[in-house]
Amino acid sequence: MDFLQPTTWAEALSMKAAHPEALPIAGGTDVMVEINFDRHRPAAFLDLTRIAELAEWGQEGDHLRIGAGVTYTRLIDELGDRLPGLAMASRTVGSPQIRNRGTVGGNLGSASPAGDAHPPLLASGAIVELASTAGIRRLPANEFFVGPKRSAMRKDELIRAFLVEPAPGPQQFSKVGTRNAMVIAVCSFALSIDPARRHVGTGIGSAAPTPVTAPEAERFLEGVLGESDLWQKPAPVADSALVRFGELVAAAARPIDDVRGTAAYRRHALRVLTARALERTMAE
Ligand SMILES: Cc1cc2nc3c(=O)[nH]c(=O)nc-3n(C[C@H](O)[C@H](O)[C@H](O)COP(=O)(O)OP(=O)(O)OC[C@H]3O[C@@H](n4cnc5c(N)ncnc54)[C@H](O)[C@@H]3O)c2cc1C
Repeated sequence: MDFLQPTTWAEALSMKAAHPEALPIAGGTDVMVEINFDRHRPAAFLDLTRIAELAEWGQEGDHLRIGAGVTYTRLIDELGDRLPGLAMASRTVGSPQIRNRGTVGGNLGSASPAGDAHPPLLASGAIVELASTAGIRRLPANEFFVGPKRSAMRKDELIRAFLVEPAPGPQQFSKVGTRNAMVIAVCSFALSIDPARRHVGTGIGSAAPTPVTAPEAERFLEGVLGESDLWQKPAPVADSALVRFGELVAAAARPIDDVRGTAAYRRHALRVLTARALERTMAE
């Protein structure tokens, strides 16, 4: 197979335009599994690891703009204070070796419903930046995922970066797996609270054909926090509100039975994760 190795972003976009069938490879932690098991044999690889700007991050207005090639280890070390929800999720990814190579760009590229970066990106209203020789387009994360392992990225496009605001308030992420580490999520949940804008964000992983949000649960919790004036003076929320919030999150999921768990267990686990995330958030 052909191995294309651009050294600049412009060269990578031209190569992708000329070879739309070429499979991008960043950390390779998803791609090499597919190759090793012979599930996929692309005509060509497009190696993105030599493009320095993909591994950079910086400020753009109110947002952080983070290159698709920034690894989980660097996200935790360099951005953990500004993006605590994404850092919590990153700490649960694979092992140190996987976190040293794996990237959020690769997680988005695979678009797995179980990708651990996706719930915190959804909860914090992140934007995905896609590019081709035709130009740049920016999509809200909740428009990026269109089906199981399918995204809105076109064949001639690459993921350049994602944009996200530094956490405006408390954020949480939790995940249930069949063991404590090196595990694909049975389900996961992310919560992000913006006290100044009085906004709640959610993200659910591994419990629907794509990562999804729970808008009804978000509006319900905004109401609860507003009624009791808890936006600026956090205090425990009533048990009845914890239960209702969990029910609304579980109702937003569309889980299936599979080797990792049943649909019923996933809904139950989501109710538990949700209540726990909310308790921890209010304690913060
Ligand atoms: C042992 C092991 C444990 C793992 N544990 C977890 C886990 O706990 N949680 C989790 O979410 N994942 C896990 N994974 C999966 C994987 O590590 C992640 O999905 C990771 O984020 C992939 O990043 P990568 O840079 O290695 O992507 P790659 O494997 O290089 O690429 C993944 C996909 O994205 C595409 N792609 C990569 N970069 C771009 C780009 N810039 N533009 C367009 N397309 C691009 C590739 O073509 C490919 O389709 C695990 C994998 C292994 C092998």
